[in-house]
Parts: sequence; structure tokens; C-alpha cells
Amino acid sequence: MNEIRKCQNCHNDFTIEPEDFKFYEKMQVPPPTFCPECRTRRRFMFRNEKSLFIKKSSFSGQDIFSMYPKDSYPKIYESKIWYSDEWNPLDYGRDVDFSKPFLEQFFELLKEVPHPARSVSEETLVNSDYCNNANHLKNCYLVFNTAHDEDCMYGNDIYDGRDVVDGLSVKNSELSYDNFWVMRSNRVFFSHYIEDSHDIYFSKNLRACSNCFGCVNLRGKSYHIFNEPYSKEEYIAKLESFDVGSYKFIEKTKKKVQEFWNNFPNQNLLNRNAINCSGEYIYNSKNAKNSYYIREAENVKYSQFLITPPVSEAYDQTLFGEGSSFIYESLVCGLNVNDLKFCRECWSGMNESQYTMYSGGGSSNLFGCVGMRGGQSYCILNKQYSKEDYKQLVSKIVRHMNEMPYQDKQGNIYKYGEFFPPEFSPFVYNETIAQEYFPLTKEEALKLGYSWRDPEERDYKITVEADDLPDHIAQVKDSILNEVIGCAHEQKCNEQCTKAFRIIDKELAFYRKMNLPLPRLCPNCRHYQRVKFRNPLKLWQRKCQCAGEKSDNGVYINATKHKHEDVHCLNEFETSYSTDRAEIVYCEGCYLKEVV
Ligand SMILES: [Zn+2]
Ligand SMILES: [Zn+2]
Ligand SMILES: [Zn+2]
Ligand SMILES: [Zn+2]
Repeated sequence: MNEIRKCQNCHNDFTIEPEDFKFYEKMQVPPPTFCPECRTRRRFMFRNEKSLFIKKSSFSGQDIFSMYPKDSYPKIYESKIWYSDEWNPLDYGRDVDFSKPFLEQFFELLKEVPHPARSVSEETLVNSDYCNNANHLKNCYLVFNTAHDEDCMYGNDIYDGRDVVDGLSVKNSELSYDNFWVMRSNRVFFSHYIEDSHDIYFSKNLRACSNCFGCVNLRGKSYHIFNEPYSKEEYIAKLESFDVGSYKFIEKTKKKVQEFWNNFPNQNLLNRNAINCSGEYIYNSKNAKNSYYIREAENVKYSQFLITPPVSEAYDQTLFGEGSSFIYESLVCGLNVNDLKFCRECWSGMNESQYTMYSGGGSSNLFGCVGMRGGQSYCILNKQYSKEDYKQLVSKIVRHMNEMPYQDKQGNIYKYGEFFPPEFSPFVYNETIAQEYFPLTKEEALKLGYSWRDPEERDYKITVEADDLPDHIAQVKDSILNEVIGCAHEQKCNEQCTKAFRIIDKELAFYRKMNLPLPRLCPNCRHYQRVKFRNPLKLWQRKCQCAGEKSDNGVYINATKHKHEDVHCLNEFETSYSTDRAEIVYCEGCYLKEVV
């Protein structure tokens, strides 16, 4: 039987399904007291994907790059030192004090044990200092949440990329600019949802296409402009007449194609080979429910960004997988980990652990520990116990957590079975992925009791405003490298705008080589423009908009006959397109009839 509960945090009702109870029983945890969305948001507040700061290392005393803000609580060590034997986490061990809530004691420990400055494996980064949540990079600049890239700049979620600039979710691709969701494709510009294609401009939903401009919903096509076929010679001549090196042309065309794309149907969900799944961006998975960005996973629910397979048996897992199973309410855990609950940043063979951060290296049976990288087991608050004492003490702590729960600033009660409260996060709301997926204004965030940081006042002087940049890349002189450019948003947006930015030399070389104009927005604002094309982590129940011969808003005329002939398609579905959006949404059957 489904059970309806009231969320402690937002006070909305949420449903716990029978299969959920089974999972909680298996994991020996009580059912959650936060609704799925509040749980997701709470975890997201612990993930700073792309803000970098300068902070003093508590090891060397040097100012170093860090994902932790200068005034945040973590003591940081250079990542290389942090992973080494230069320090011993057991030196921070302490007894459990049963006169205080356990989570309060964990937070005290967390403030003392060093954190790695950045989440990177430093030895795999070559000339790529301005990066985080990354490994195996060469000559990369401001790329995040990323691996195995060379010569990439300003990107997020870029894997196996070469010369990918301003990309979001770009995999196995080369020489591309300003795209969202591109796979195995080269020379793709200003486009979304492109797979196995090359030489594409301003297009959406293309597969196995080449030399297309302003196209949508095409398969295996070449030399098309706004979905019309051209001969190769005509196409080349047309393309030459399009002045893609001009900023004005790019802006005008972006608007034009957006309107053009909206004349064509979208599939209700972007899933591929997703058996018995709900959610979106799910590939080759089975029983992935209420989950997003999932690849080759089985039996997962309320999870996100499990894109490094395999993953199985996970509830409320945010990032990353790679051989993980039986994970509950955890963030950034993976690499052969098993049986983790309420953990953050635990990897490399960790198992049977709870309420632990920054641990790995085959450690197991940890409860409330930080920084255990060397195969330690049976530890509580970084103190070593015998197996028997550990088991007894853990049961006693669980009872204690229920009897003397932690209460956070919002008044939420944290008994055993909750993830860490937001106030344990060293990051402010607007510098985490919570702001990307659940955007708030400063006032809204503060009202909810979340922290916020206004952009730092910097002492540079803007030397040229975005409006005064040359329109065409051909007019740009090398002296642009010395300018401080004012972002066109002037910090009036809610996009972590840095107010000003610079062009670096290899970036200028890229724009010149690819014939692309200079950007007018700072890297953060550019990132947030691409984020807008990502569908939300939310589903709406809707009806197929195929009315037989055309879409029911009369905009799109079907190219083929459908099974339901000239009557309205009766299919209903879940979709991430809310009812107030301009896009036309078809069920899978009707959509596939129309992509040609
Ligand atoms: Zn809620
Ligand atoms: Zn900006
Ligand atoms: Zn902005
Ligand atoms: Zn139809």
C-alpha cells in the first residue's frame, strides 16, 4: 500500500511506495521525513561544481586554488598532500559524548579534519589548474565535472572532448562551441541534442547528420538548411553567405531557430532503451524511477547523475556510481563502493559505512568519520574500536540520535536516517548545483534559511564594455587579450555573474580558427544560458499533442500517417515539458513517425 506522509521541510504530501519500504528495510533505515525533492535539494547544496576560490592551505600556509571559499570552515590541504601519508586521520579521533546530539559532534570533527582543496587527482591534470571535480585533463581551462579532455575551455560535464568550448554535457566530441547535449560529433555549433553528426549549426535533435544549418528532427541527412535539402554546391554557397563570424548574425539566428524549432514536435522524454523507467536522460537502464541522467543502471530511484556505470540498488544517490550498489542518501560516492548510507565523497572500495565524508581506500565500517583514506575499519568519530565494541556503540548511537536528535536552523529534526543538514555544507546555496536545478533569488534563499554570497567586489577596472566589442571576429585585434570586458548582464541577473571577464590567447585562437565572434557574457552567465536548455528534474502528466493530421495547436503538419489516423492520439505520458511551454510534445510513437 502507498503511504502518504507530510514532508518535514516543505510540508507538502509525498508518497512512499511499497517497493520503497522494501528498500528501506533492506538498508535498515527508517522511511524518510523529507519529500524526494527536498531530499534532492538538500544533497545538491553540498555540491559546488564550478566555483573556485583562493584559500590558505593549513599544510603549507600558501594561498592555493580551492573549491572552498576563503571564509568557509574547512581546513584545506593541497590535494596531493591530502591523499598522502603526511597526516593521519586517527589523530583527530574522539569519544562519543552522549550528552550532545551526535551530528553536532560530527560537525565539530568535520571542522577540524583537513579537506582536499579541490576534488581532483592532481597527478592526472596537465596544465589545467583552473578546474575542479575533474581528472585526466590536458591544457584545459575552467572546465568542471569533467574527465579525459584536451584543450577544452569553459565547460561542464565534458568527457573525452578535444577543443570543446562553452559546452554542457558534451561527450566524445571535437571542435565544438556553445552546445548542450552533444555526443560523438565534431564541429557542432549552437546546437542541442546532436548525436553521431558533424558540421552542424543551430540545430536540434539530429542523428547521423552532416552539414546541416538550422535543422530539427532529422536522421541521416546532409546539406539541409532549415530542414530543406540543397545540393552540396548550393549548401556551401549558402553557408558562405551566412556571416557566422558576426555577433549580430549569431544573436539573430539564435532567435530565429528557436522559433523554427518550436514548430516541430518533441518527444515527451529524452530516454533511450530505458525499461520500466521514469525520469529523464536515462540511457540503457532498467527500473530507474524518478531519476535523471542515468546510464546503465538497475533498480535506482530518486537518483541523479549516475553516468559512470555500473550502478545498482540505489535510492537518493547523487553522483557518480562506477561500481556502486546499495547506496542510500549519498552524494559523490562511487568506484566499487557498497552499502553506504548518508555519505558524501566516499570512494575506492568503501563499504558498510554511514555518516562519513572524504573517505575511501578500502575503508569499511566507519560511522561519523572524515578523511579515512587508508583502509581503516571499525572507527567512530575517527577513533578506532574493536569489531565488537564498534557494533555495540553504533547501536547505542542510533538510539541516541533518535532520543536526542539534532535540530537544524530551520527547525527540522534530524533523527537517525537523515542526510546532513544544509548548515553543514561549506558552500552557499547560490554556489552549488541547487541553484542550477532549483533556482532561488537571494531573498527566497535567505527566507528558507539557506546561506547566500553576493559576488566578490574585485579591484579590476572594466576597460571595454560588451557593447563596444567589434561585431566580427575578423575585426578583433590581439590587444583584446589585455582588455577587461564588462559582461552584458552587469551582474543584474541571478547567474553568478562575475561582472567582467577576459579572453585568453588560446580562446582567441579558437574563435579565429572556427570563425566565431567574441562572447558578450562572462563564463558564468554563458553557463546559465545553456542550463536553460536542460529540462527540469520534474515530470508533468500530459496528453500527446498529435491531433491526427497536425499538432493540436495547428502549428505542425504531420509528414506521415499515424496509426490513430485523423483522430487525436489518445496517449498520455509523463514529460519534463510543463503545460505552459511553447514546445509541441508528442508521445514516442507519434514522434518517431515524424523524425525522418
Ligand atoms: Zn519537501
Ligand atoms: Zn555575467
Ligand atoms: Zn547573467
Ligand atoms: Zn500521432
